[in-house]
Amino acid sequence: MSSIKNLEGLFQHMLQDMLYAENKITKALPKMIKKTSDENLKAGLEQHLEETKDQIGKLEEVFEICGFDKKREKCEAIEGLIKEGESLMDEVQNGPTLDAALIAAAQKVEHYEIATYGALCHMANKLGQKEAAKLLHEILEQEKATDEKLIDLSDGIEEESMKQAA
Ligand code: FE
Ligand code: FE
Ligand code: FE
Repeated sequence: MSSIKNLEGLFQHMLQDMLYAENKITKALPKMIKKTSDENLKAGLEQHLEETKDQIGKLEEVFEICGFDKKREKCEAIEGLIKEGESLMDEVQNGPTLDAALIAAAQKVEHYEIATYGALCHMANKLGQKEAAKLLHEILEQEKATDEKLIDLSDGIEEESMKQAA
């Protein structure tokens, strides 16, 4: 049974996926913040938690602009990324190696978001939804900046992790 018939329907469904995903991320980030022992990583994750809450507001604005129902569509991708991240955390000893694992897990989420918001931006422009495209682009830039910050932080943390006893 296919209920999505055109680009607008696809765009709406993918937005509903991301509304679910961003809400899920606001639940996952506090758990990650609690696990880290690196102050800079903690601050970075805290900042992105605030941005993520702001992104939900931006998404809701997009729904209003486009006249879409603010329904959350279960996003299997984010479920899987978070579940895999959590089971990995359970196997990693506290300290820099756990921080390295947190960074890798967070980067996977950011890359998923970058791919999705990139596609959503493109669709919004195609559909002539300039205002929605602008908001989606703002979110996209926040996800990219977060990924860059995580890359910067990973350098020192990986050095420390290498020094941990086997
Ligand atoms: Fe996000
Ligand atoms: Fe879906
Ligand atoms: Fe993000």
